[in-house]
Amino acid sequence: MAKCPICKKSDGAEKFRPFCSKRCSDVDLHRWMGGHYAVPAVEPPDDFDAEIEAALSDQDAQDKLH
Ligand SMILES: [Zn+2]
Repeated sequence: MAKCPICKKSDGAEKFRPFCSKRCSDVDLHRWMGGHYAVPAVEPPDDFDAEIEAALSDQDAQDKLH
């Protein structure tokens, strides 16, 4: 199975392909809808990755409960 392009995990629900979960799908959508990539000449702000990381570490915390 292909790895999730957002969190790089290879395990996930098939129905969210190519993402592992709705959360990662939402993160990807947010990237585009957020307009960070709308102007290619402008680099994403430094806190953009941190925003994604926060969302993902949220998911990691949930995964560890299993
Ligand atoms: Zn993922």
